[in-house]
Amino acid sequence: MSVAREKLVVMKFGGTSVEDAKAMERTAAIVRGRRERGLDAVVVVSAMAKVTDHLLAAAAAAGRDDKAGALAISARLRHRHIDTAADLLRGERLAQLQSAIHQELDSLDDLLRGIAAVGELTERTNDLVVSFGERLSSQMVAAAFEQRGLQGVHVDARTCIITDSHYGKAAPLESAIEAKLAEIVLPLIAAGQTPVMGGFIGSNAEGITTTLGRGGSDYTAALVGGGLHAGAIEIWTDVNGIMTTDPRICPDALRVKTISFEEAAELAYFGAKVLHPATILPAVQKSIPVWVLNSRNAENEGTKITAMAAKCASPFKSIAAKKKLTIIDVVASRMLMSHGYLKAVFDVFDKYKCAIDMVSTSEVSISLTVDSNQQLPEICEELGRIADVKMEGHKALVCLVGEDIRGHNGIAGRVFSAISHVNVRMISQGASEINMSFMIDEEDVEEAVRSLHGVFFANPDEAVFDITTRDVAARGQLVSKT
Ligand code: ASP
Ligand code: MG
Repeated sequence: MSVAREKLVVMKFGGTSVEDAKAMERTAAIVRGRRERGLDAVVVVSAMAKVTDHLLAAAAAAGRDDKAGALAISARLRHRHIDTAADLLRGERLAQLQSAIHQELDSLDDLLRGIAAVGELTERTNDLVVSFGERLSSQMVAAAFEQRGLQGVHVDARTCIITDSHYGKAAPLESAIEAKLAEIVLPLIAAGQTPVMGGFIGSNAEGITTTLGRGGSDYTAALVGGGLHAGAIEIWTDVNGIMTTDPRICPDALRVKTISFEEAAELAYFGAKVLHPATILPAVQKSIPVWVLNSRNAENEGTKITAMAAKCASPFKSIAAKKKLTIIDVVASRMLMSHGYLKAVFDVFDKYKCAIDMVSTSEVSISLTVDSNQQLPEICEELGRIADVKMEGHKALVCLVGEDIRGHNGIAGRVFSAISHVNVRMISQGASEINMSFMIDEEDVEEAVRSLHGVFFANPDEAVFDITTRDVAARGQLVSKT
């Protein structure tokens, strides 16, 4: 029984790629394409779009004793899955799948009634409720593959993804996972089958259901790819990969063909929503390339994320912008940065679980930027006990990311002359040395991003950027074909 690892690809499809029968058809066609190239595939799927939210709502309703509300949500989920199955399959396979769906939904209903009866929703039970989304979608996709000659076989992810017992955001136990994958999944691949499993869900050593946290299916894909030593991991989503900037702001944005893990991580932090790179760490640590691809535009080559950055003439790979930020200036009136002062300031943010995007300090003041949606009045009131506090909303952060900032001289000069007409409030060159960020007024974002993009992506390096996307834009068509 041998499997050529370099020919093994782990393919993850997000909620929109399995949102209905049509999307599942597209997913099957994409997997068929890989198999026809002689690759073996393991498929990881999210719950159908929005299902996780509905399950959480059902659990919460049951937890506050609204049994009828919880069961109504579950009834709608039952219809959606049953109807999708009917669109997807025929005959005996349809009957089998629908009876499996009914069984799952019956046990979900029992569970919701139980929660309502106890009148208390624990983290542990909450995980069990949300696990139904991926349990259902993965069984449906496996059946769809089977009917389409792809030898789909369902694997309950909870048998392989072993985690600790931190319900709601469990930590995977990688060596246990590797052993389970070798025992359960590898033989299926060797037999020419296409294993299909749900992302996001796992179980602890006692077999109790856990989850990896919201959006955790990418994490599952990386764990499966890492554990199986796959040749590649593909994250199928609904965008054409990572772009040089948001094409809605800048129509001549280019697709980035290849980007390093560190660069992708910086971008994700500063607002590019494609994927959360921490989740692909298990793949990066084993030097397995991760591709971001578009399931509605499967011909597109997407973006390849690798451990090492490609050599590139441009200092930057991408420009991200994040709006709805507030700057808080904290001025020490009395203690002039005495020992423990910074800690006292940060402790206040910590207490409200408020993430800080950027910090700059002077002898007497600290400026911090935070998301405007936080509990800012409470935070400022507490800070007011130790300092004078000023708040300024409607700010935005622009962040330029690229490994080649290192060792290039004069880049800051080029950046700030490109936006010399814009009022810049705070500047930071990230400690990682691969990002340069600054704060401006929200209303200046579009113009600043366009000016910067014009300067830094005027002559794109074709090895790293897809210039054909610019040609498309020049002809007046949309960059993204989604
Ligand atoms: N279905 C889960 C969520 O919506 C996991 C995922 O989609 O990655 O968070
Ligand atoms: Mg997702």
